[in-house]
Amino acid sequence: MKKIAIVTGGGSGIGLAIARKFVKNEIHTIIVGRDSAKLKEACATLGKLSDWFLCDLTKLEDIPELVQKIIDKYGRIDILVNNAGMHLKKGMAEVSDEEFQKVILTNQTSVFSLTRSVAGFMQEQESGAVLNISSMASIYGIPYVIAYTASKAAIEGMTRAMAVELSPLGIRVNCLAPGFIRTNMSSLALDKDPEREKKVLSRTPMGRLGKPEEVADAALFLVSDSASYITGVVLPVDGGNSIGF
Ligand code: NDP
Repeated sequence: MKKIAIVTGGGSGIGLAIARKFVKNEIHTIIVGRDSAKLKEACATLGKLSDWFLCDLTKLEDIPELVQKIIDKYGRIDILVNNAGMHLKKGMAEVSDEEFQKVILTNQTSVFSLTRSVAGFMQEQESGAVLNISSMASIYGIPYVIAYTASKAAIEGMTRAMAVELSPLGIRVNCLAPGFIRTNMSSLALDKDPEREKKVLSRTPMGRLGKPEEVADAALFLVSDSASYITGVVLPVDGGNSIGF
C-alpha cells in the first residue's frame, strides 16, 4: 500500500521539491495552498501520484474540514510536512502588531492546528511521521526578521514538545532547518540586498546557496522508515551555515 503524504505549500519552492521527491519514491502526495491555478499546474508536473486541496491555513476553522476531506478520499495520512510559510523583512520598529500576528498565525499557529488534526488520525493508525520546517533564524540572530524569527524558534520548540507527546503513540516528529535555499522567498530577502547575500555566503562553508532538492532529500529520509528511531531532532540542511564563522 502506498503511503499518503500532505505537503503544505507544496505548489512552489521547497514544498514542491519535497512533493516531487515523495512522488518519485511512490508516496501519494497531496499539496495544499491558497492558489488553485498554481496547485493544478504543480500537480500536472508531479503526475498521477499527486493531488491538491485548496486551503488558506490561516483560516484555522477550515483545517478540520480539510483533514476530514483528505481522510474521506484516501482513508489515512502517513506523512505531514508543515512547509507552508511566509517571510517578512522589516526593521523591528516598523512591524505592526497585525503584521507580527499574521506571520505567527501562518508559520506557527496553523502548524499546531493542522498537526493536532492530522495526529488524531495518525494516532488511530498507530503510525505517522510529521516534519516541520524551521530556519537559521531560529538558531542565530538575523536582523529585520523579528516575527519570522519568533515563529521559527517556536517551530523548533513545538517539534520537541510534539515529539514527546506523540512518539509514544507511534508518531515521529522531526524538523528540518534549511539554510539559505534558492527560492522565491529567499530571492525576496536577498536579491535587493547584496550585502546580506555576501554575508550569508561568507559564513557558509560550502560557499553557495542550497537547492530545494537538497532539502527534499533530507525530508524524504526523516519521514521514511530509514529514520524509524529518530524523533524530536532538528536537522540543519545548510551547507554548514549554522556552524560557519
Ligand atoms: P515559497 O514562498 O516558495 O513557498 C511558501 C509556500 O507556502 C507557498 O507555496 C505558499 O503557497 C504557501 N503558503 C503561504 N501562506 C500560506 C497559507 N496561509 N495557507 C496555505 N499555504 C500558504 O518559499 P520557500 O519554498 O522558500 O519556503 C518553504 C518553507 O521553507 C517555509 O516555511 C520557509 O519559511 C522555509 N524556509 C525557507 C528558506 C529559504 O531559504 N528559502 C530557509 C529556511 C526556511 P500560496 O502562496 O500559493 O498559498
